[in-house]
Amino acid sequence: MRLLTDQDNVDASHHIISVAKGLGIDFDLLDPAEAVRRNPLVSGDGLLGALWDDLDGDIDPAQLCQALARRARKAGAEINRNCPVTGLTQKPGNEWIVHTDRGDIAAEHVVIAAGYRVGEIGGMLDIGYPVIAMEHMYFLTEDIPDLAGREGRVPMVRCPCDSFYTRQERQGLLVGIYEHNCRTFGMDGIDPDFVNALCPDDLDRLLPRMAPIFERLPCLGNVGIRSVVNGPIAYVADAGPLVGKQPGRRNLWSTNGIRVGIGEGGGYGKMLAQMMVHGETEWDTWQLDLRRITSFANTEYTALKAVEDYRHQFRWHMPHEHRPAGRPAKTPPLYPLLQAKGAAFGVVNGWERTSF
Ligand SMILES: Cc1cc2nc3c(=O)[nH]c(=O)nc-3n(C[C@H](O)[C@H](O)[C@H](O)COP(=O)(O)OP(=O)(O)OC[C@H]3O[C@@H](n4cnc5c(N)ncnc54)[C@H](O)[C@@H]3O)c2cc1C
Repeated sequence: MRLLTDQDNVDASHHIISVAKGLGIDFDLLDPAEAVRRNPLVSGDGLLGALWDDLDGDIDPAQLCQALARRARKAGAEINRNCPVTGLTQKPGNEWIVHTDRGDIAAEHVVIAAGYRVGEIGGMLDIGYPVIAMEHMYFLTEDIPDLAGREGRVPMVRCPCDSFYTRQERQGLLVGIYEHNCRTFGMDGIDPDFVNALCPDDLDRLLPRMAPIFERLPCLGNVGIRSVVNGPIAYVADAGPLVGKQPGRRNLWSTNGIRVGIGEGGGYGKMLAQMMVHGETEWDTWQLDLRRITSFANTEYTALKAVEDYRHQFRWHMPHEHRPAGRPAKTPPLYPLLQAKGAAFGVVNGWERTSF
């Protein structure tokens, strides 16, 4: 459930419910009493309601990864772990040679899916991906007495107003926060030994966001923190992923800049497979297409947008909202004139465009 604590978000939820309906998905708007009844850890103080998605859920990412790997192997794939790619060479017939620590691999097609290290692989091919990684942190609490002996788990909660999410993890809670005081990761290069690794804990960064979260989940005041997880997540200049054909290159593909890869990775994998096998997908994929972002999205612009998107991760885009970071990136010749006349501007691929 998504907690709604201000009227703008209640209004937005009506819009989201109707968009979801058009997509064949049923969301409900719960009143505060029903929200608290479904998740008794949530305080109803100041709560205006909650958006309920009956199909939402969570999955153990390690087990998901193993399940995908097992199925891929069964379908004939070979997986080489701990085998860093050190270079990529394309032969005249478009075939690739993938250079690795353990020797070369010949490949007809290459898919770059390098997570927060995509900048390094891009550097090998002279491709600048508009991707910057942000550190993201969650903490796990000690056991919460109210959860002991409870049948089933309490529903997962996201809060677009106070920028946090929480779900039950054994008898405690996992609480993740999208803090305002956020940090980029790896902009000066990444240690080659940073593999399956985490960043140092930095709970102080989360403190300014904590007070409203503790008020919403009073049980947090009575238990300690068991552990903290802080890791990098890739962010793209316009907050969407980069999935599809690499423009201007043959037999080269991308699934990069994926922020919620546990939730969305399966779908992107399916789309990419359809593109590679059939040349197109069953869906309109323009919002994922690499051609939608052009070279104006340099490192500085992408970093500014990554920070802005991170801070707004759970906030819904309101109608006519064009967020300010990195603007103006590209202006048409009439921009100063229109500006002097008080025009309002929106953004399309970096261009400032009068909006109404
Ligand atoms: C704290 C935290 C919480 C998160 N919570 C959620 C969540 O609740 N839901 C959700 O959906 N997502 C969540 N995510 C994000 C999710 O983990 C990522 O979106 C997802 O892992 C991205 O998948 P990927 O395959 O694009 O990149 P990665 O998982 O980073 O995989 C990239 C792979 O490429 C390999 N690689 C890189 N460079 C090379 C090279 N030169 N040679 C060979 N291999 C290379 C890496 O070793 C790695 O295995 C969270 C992330 C963090 C850090």
